[in-house]
Amino acid sequence: MKRKEICKQLCVGLVLILSLTLVFSCQTNKSDSVDQDFERYKDTFIESIWKLNPSWAMYVGYHKYDSVLLVPDSNYLVSQVATYESLLNELKKIDEGSLNQNNKVDYWMMRDFVLSSLWYAKEFKSHEWNPAVYNVGGEFAEILNGRFATLDERMRSVFLRMQNVPHYYQVAESNISNPTKEHTELAILQNKGALSIFGTSLIDSLNVCKNLSDREKEEFKSRINLTTASIEKYIHFLERLNSSINETNSKSFRIGKEAYFKKFEHDIQSAYTADALYKKAIERKKELHTKMGELAEQLWPKYFSDTQKPSDSKKMIRLIIDTIASSHCHRDSFQLEIEKQIPELEKFINEKNLLYLDPSKPLVVRKTPEYMEGSGAGASINSPGPYDKGANTYYNVSPLDGYTNKAAESYLREYNNYTLQILNIHEAIPGHYTQLVYSNNAPSMIKSILGNGSMIEGWAVYGERMMLEEGYGNNNPELWMMYYKWHLRTVCNTILDFCVHTLNMTKEEGLDLLVNEAFQ
Ligand code: ZN
Ligand code: ZN
Repeated sequence: MKRKEICKQLCVGLVLILSLTLVFSCQTNKSDSVDQDFERYKDTFIESIWKLNPSWAMYVGYHKYDSVLLVPDSNYLVSQVATYESLLNELKKIDEGSLNQNNKVDYWMMRDFVLSSLWYAKEFKSHEWNPAVYNVGGEFAEILNGRFATLDERMRSVFLRMQNVPHYYQVAESNISNPTKEHTELAILQNKGALSIFGTSLIDSLNVCKNLSDREKEEFKSRINLTTASIEKYIHFLERLNSSINETNSKSFRIGKEAYFKKFEHDIQSAYTADALYKKAIERKKELHTKMGELAEQLWPKYFSDTQKPSDSKKMIRLIIDTIASSHCHRDSFQLEIEKQIPELEKFINEKNLLYLDPSKPLVVRKTPEYMEGSGAGASINSPGPYDKGANTYYNVSPLDGYTNKAAESYLREYNNYTLQILNIHEAIPGHYTQLVYSNNAPSMIKSILGNGSMIEGWAVYGERMMLEEGYGNNNPELWMMYYKWHLRTVCNTILDFCVHTLNMTKEEGLDLLVNEAFQ
């Protein structure tokens, strides 16, 4: 479910309107009644999904199950598979051919989702080998920092939710049978991070809480202690485990060709097979190197006047990139620079009439909240789910406060004046932010919640090139050069993923690809 959770920072009302319209339209038509039944079935389907995946529900703004921490014991695993199998059987009974076009698409999305979930539960089984799937931190942070309810209400959910934490980690220990070393180390790191959520700021919140009695507050504190003790116990368990395993006596982090091809089918939902896409990426890399070579030739005299050009095209590209990267903003004005660019991107799109931007859903640029720091991303979009689509969309920008001069310089060179524009196109307009506003307006809850990750990412990637081809930046060669460098990362990620999991690519080979072929 991790994939969906990543996209979270991804309508009941609209579904209701839609079904009412159907009720009042002609009822004698057979396909109309099939569609009506299907509309009702979708609600049942979604409710089953939320019951099985309360964390995911929380991230899309459905808070009915916030107070419940599901314990992934054998009962849960059995009931999970049973539920998905019964959903699949229900779907098979529906006369898919009689559904209207909109519902047909929903039907196939639901079917694919169920098949994918069954594959993850029965075949992929990351609950056995990936200790990092066990971490209570994220959801507690989500509840504590959410704006969907009053602090008092949220604190009550936290209070109830903490009850199952000890059992949760006991089950985690017994579920892990053959962990990979890499995921064990990741789990140690991330669970240590989770401990900070149960620190002083939680006690501060507890002290200002009005609807908990003194007795409950005491109980609350003892549950905090039990929670942190359970996390620490799990970390110790993992540390012992980690010292007993090495690369040769533990499961490989590489999932292997067979699982990779199946995972690709379920996750990417593409007409391409995994190896066909890999071959396309190799071709694309060559094309990009040619285009970048031409641009480097063109830009050489501007930056190096009559200095001798290197004969190796990649060396010349590298020199040009290194030179134009020095055009960047000051470390204190990073967020300001992003804020300034958003209206410019909006203006360009409106003038060119490229797509409709809903002015009632503004994008709020803000400093990344502390609890979200450490995810590694300097900038990210945090958008409301389909259940609370009235809420703000945030563009989180990490300040460079804690950076040394050297680190800040490196960061600013990476997000130089050109790349920063590509980043804003990708993350904000017309990239992720715009797409997620549209997604929340989809007249079908199924389409909003089962959005495909590669479509979501693909839209933002498409948006970058579309904007430049439409003339954003007036065909500035430096902007195109930095776009190509940025785009090479996407292309090389495809290559890297495939090679690491199916072709035993080594760390050195991976680094060589990123540094020498993708100019990272
Ligand atoms: Zn500089
Ligand atoms: Zn993206």
